[in-house]
Amino acid sequence: MGQITELVQEAHKTAVAHGWWEKEPEFGTLIALCHSELSESLEEYRDGRQPYQLYHEKNGRPEGIPVELADVVIRIFDMCGHYGIDLEGAILDKMRYNQWRDYKHGGKLI
Ligand SMILES: [Mg+2]
Repeated sequence: MGQITELVQEAHKTAVAHGWWEKEPEFGTLIALCHSELSESLEEYRDGRQPYQLYHEKNGRPEGIPVELADVVIRIFDMCGHYGIDLEGAILDKMRYNQWRDYKHGGKLI
């Protein structure tokens, strides 16, 4: 088992242990919560923090853009654990595919 798959299982186990799956959230809600973590990272940036800047609150809670990005991934891990998604396999599959795509494929500017 790969490291990402282990993290998927750990994230979901932690979420279940903390009661977040007592009533199964709708898929759309779970996606919205991922969006909210991205928005939190943008708010950190709007508050003047650099993307690499991790800091701790007085109570020891980690904060900053790296932590909000981690929250996105943790939420995705949790979802994948619940739905039985092989995220590690999907990542490897898509990354391999991306390597062989055309230069700036699709003709988009960004
Ligand atoms: Mg957060």
